[in-house]
Amino acid sequence: MCYAIPAKLTAINGQIGMLDYFGEQRKVLLDETENYQIGDYVFAQGGIVVSKLEEAEALAILDAWKDIFFELKRQDQELAQVNLQTASPNILSILQKANHGQEITRADAEILLQLQHPHELKVLYEVANAVRQKVHGNASCIHGIIEFSNYCKNSCHYCGIRCERDIPRYRMQPEEIIELARDTMQRYGFKAFVLQSGEDEWYDDAMLEKIVSTIKHLGALVFLSIGIRSAESYQRLYQAGARAALLRFETSNAATFEKLRPGTSFNERINLLRELKTMGYIIATGFIIGFPGETHAETIGNILLAKSLQPDMHSFGPLIPTVDTPLASYPKLTKAEVLKVIAVTRLLDRNSNILVTSALETLDASARKEAFLAGANSMMINLTPLEYREQYAIYDNRACKLSVDDAVSDTVQLLFSLGRAPTDLSMKAGN
Ligand code: SAH
Repeated sequence: MCYAIPAKLTAINGQIGMLDYFGEQRKVLLDETENYQIGDYVFAQGGIVVSKLEEAEALAILDAWKDIFFELKRQDQELAQVNLQTASPNILSILQKANHGQEITRADAEILLQLQHPHELKVLYEVANAVRQKVHGNASCIHGIIEFSNYCKNSCHYCGIRCERDIPRYRMQPEEIIELARDTMQRYGFKAFVLQSGEDEWYDDAMLEKIVSTIKHLGALVFLSIGIRSAESYQRLYQAGARAALLRFETSNAATFEKLRPGTSFNERINLLRELKTMGYIIATGFIIGFPGETHAETIGNILLAKSLQPDMHSFGPLIPTVDTPLASYPKLTKAEVLKVIAVTRLLDRNSNILVTSALETLDASARKEAFLAGANSMMINLTPLEYREQYAIYDNRACKLSVDDAVSDTVQLLFSLGRAPTDLSMKAGN
């Protein structure tokens, strides 16, 4: 099973190219360091061409996909039907507006987050799913994540790898990280890797540059998720080939941020996100839902702050209270609270991708499918070697116990049952 479908490059205009996937077009960014020609077959991730492949290989993959591609689309369309007749009068006009292509307002979002009745939630999720389908088609981005170190200098009140915690710590050697990327690329066809760690300065810029540039040259998108580093470091890593950064701001409430993340600064994190965007990074950002005292208005503030940072992808998940941390005995959210935030985010920011996070799966194992049917369209597969994965204990009982083999087949099954395909067609041409 191939984890990305190749596309044909049909036009080039400077750094911008046009890709064709079975007749559908997608505008993409071409890497200035590679030499592309019209007619090349390529893989793209997140709107960036990451590698070229031989025509014969591309045609064989496309041949295997061609029937299923259209069948999946049909299935997705069928699952994206909306029945607004069941909507109560107080939400009908909001949902109609969203269903007809308009973005909803902050006040609308607040009304939607208050919903409780299952039949109202059902119609909210249906509309969010229909919006996802109209804007993104059945495209789903599936990235691999490698959690390469659980050392962290920070002391975040919610996090299980905070520095005070007495847990076994590990660091993957640069070669080990590179080999894992190489192996999972060859074996499963991953084309994008999120490299995540605690804030661990043991990896200096030169070490990270080597990891990034080697993985980039294997033909993959490198997504950094390493927390705060200087703008100069991120600039060097961009030059080494990193093109995306996952950095959550955690909460838009600066006072809560600074209370729960002692010694760190809200403004510094937001400024870094803005700088990363200016440098050219694709941004994934978001927050934790359900910090102590959080109101619905604050949750909406979180979504809108994320939107203002112009992310390619929203990444948020519920707080999972974790042993040995100051928030250990804090209550958990319900699955519906999280699904509502996914649906409302889809209606507030139609064009972005929305990730289904493992924190949601940890809250409820069945939630992944429901999240995909409530507006989400992206996922990560955990590639961290099992012996380290357990130690990357950012929260208790993380839903990431499957081997890579099993996780890949599980994900493929899920995507196919929902009519989704791992293409880079999201937002199509012109966006
Ligand atoms: N050092 C990196 C990566 C941090 S871990 C950085 O600072 O960006 C990735 C994410 O896990 C964090 O951004 C946080 O949002 C989430 N996380 C940590 N502890 C959590 C918990 N107990 N419940 C839910 N999410 C948590």
